[in-house]
Amino acid sequence: MDDRQFRNAMGNFATGVNVITTEVDGDVHGMTANAFMSVSLDPKLVVISIGENASMLEKIRKSNRYAVNILSQSQKELSMIFAGQKEADRNVSFDRLGDLPVIKDAPTQISCEVVNEHVEGDHALFIGKVIDINLQGDADPLLFYKGKYSSIENSSVVM
Ligand code: FAD
Repeated sequence: MDDRQFRNAMGNFATGVNVITTEVDGDVHGMTANAFMSVSLDPKLVVISIGENASMLEKIRKSNRYAVNILSQSQKELSMIFAGQKEADRNVSFDRLGDLPVIKDAPTQISCEVVNEHVEGDHALFIGKVIDINLQGDADPLLFYKGKYSSIENSSVVM
């Protein structure tokens, strides 16, 4: 099976878009990621998947914590900045959730402590124990589907 076929198949799974944030020695680092899911309700666990070449990998290994910031549809530019697709024309400002930096105005911010890491193929899965959650507003989410950004407005609603 070639890589393109695998990518096309995975791209058919529509997702939201997150920016993962962490901090090492006072330096904040962010990375766009859609490989995220809820793992367990009791205890409350989530998982993210980070590529072996991403600089985020070593940062999370050092900090042992990360925040998941679920973006709204108006935050596409931030997704592009933290995916290295666009240069920021000004400093990105962060809020705090406990001792972690979080993306300002992200409708959902989840702070986690790493409780386990599994290296699988060319990615590492970080299991995060949820420490705190901040829900603010009910803005529609930014979506990612077939390799492109989308929004609920652009999708037909299935009843
Ligand atoms: P860098 O390439 O060093 O950083 C990423 C970008 O963020 C850089 O442009 C950097 O300038 C900027 N940045 C970082 N910190 C700050 C800061 N404090 N202030 C301002 N700018 C900052 N990769 C995965 O491994 N897993 C995924 O689940 C995943 N999902 C993705 C989903 C989507 C929709 C997209 C578009 C990409 C996804 N990627 C994923 C790819 C990933 O976002 C990129 O490969 C990213 O560039 C890798 O980041 P890095 O940690 O190597 O950091």
